[in-house]
Amino acid sequence: MNTPLAKLPDISVVIPAYNEGEGVDRALATISGILQTVPGNWEIIVIDDGSRDDTYERVCLYAQTEPNVKGVSFSRNFGKEAALLAGLKYSRGKAVIVIDADLQHPPELIPEMLAKWHNGAKIVHAVKRSRKTDSAGKRLAALAVNKIISWLGGINIHNSSDYKLLDREIVDILVNQLPERERFFRGLSSWIGFREEYIEFDVSNRIENESKWSFWSLVELAITALTSFTSAPLRIVTFLGLMTLVLGFAVASEALWSWHQGQAVSGFATIIITLLLIGSFIMISLGIIGEYIAKIYEEIKSRPPYLIKSTVGIAGPESRG
Ligand code: UDP
Ligand code: MG
Repeated sequence: MNTPLAKLPDISVVIPAYNEGEGVDRALATISGILQTVPGNWEIIVIDDGSRDDTYERVCLYAQTEPNVKGVSFSRNFGKEAALLAGLKYSRGKAVIVIDADLQHPPELIPEMLAKWHNGAKIVHAVKRSRKTDSAGKRLAALAVNKIISWLGGINIHNSSDYKLLDREIVDILVNQLPERERFFRGLSSWIGFREEYIEFDVSNRIENESKWSFWSLVELAITALTSFTSAPLRIVTFLGLMTLVLGFAVASEALWSWHQGQAVSGFATIIITLLLIGSFIMISLGIIGEYIAKIYEEIKSRPPYLIKSTVGIAGPESRG
């Protein structure tokens, strides 16, 4: 992508941004200010995830005076996971830091992350010490989802965030060796292994506008996370089947016994309850199987995870994901 003469940056910072026009300038100023205090040269790549506001225009303006700032603009909103993937693909630094555009991930941690990386860590995860900024409901939901995914998927993502430092080796693995399309960055970067280190941080309040995640996009993320890490839910289907079998035996023996005693086979209620139970078990099972079929369908279509409309500060056209 680059001429061999071009100097590769030591540090790349990847920022996914969706409708962050109000805050992107401040984010760029703060992060570049911090990068100037650490040794080595750097680049910042903002991935504009199809924003409908002036996020990308602001990045372009910023890039005119600061050549280390680069921008990639998607043709539409493809979601944060796609933006992260694009950012990793375009990054060239020996260490790559992924951070949110809303400054909820404190950039002051960057020097500390780099120090850990210099000491040999391949991945530095920033984990949330508190979730004070989230509502009680969101906290509870996050706890439940993280616990279930960690438990079923065999990875530890408890309190984890997308704020991470990755060594070049890890970025190359994520980009080149994991061909899956629907990704869950947080899980994948912990699944990889290698030497990991953790830093705790407090999530600060969002300064501008609202969180970009709707309730349904979070549900979708949770389903992607689950289906891409484990097939354990499919076993729930087997389990439900076994339960119905046991139930069937119980009801059958009761009916036989009543018949043997010369009594009328007991009632309507039993039939209705059994029917409803079995019906819901079948529906749940179909739903679970359906999720996995959907996942196979998405992967097999092999559509690119994102399409790029334009770039700034990046040499060479590369419009496919
Ligand atoms: N984001 C994105 N695409 C989306 C949604 C969000 O690139 O479809 C970016 C957003 O601009 C921000 C980061 O992902 O930089 C985290 O989003 P947000 O702050 O809304 O989420 P939360 O902090 O609640 O996790
Ligand atoms: Mg945020």
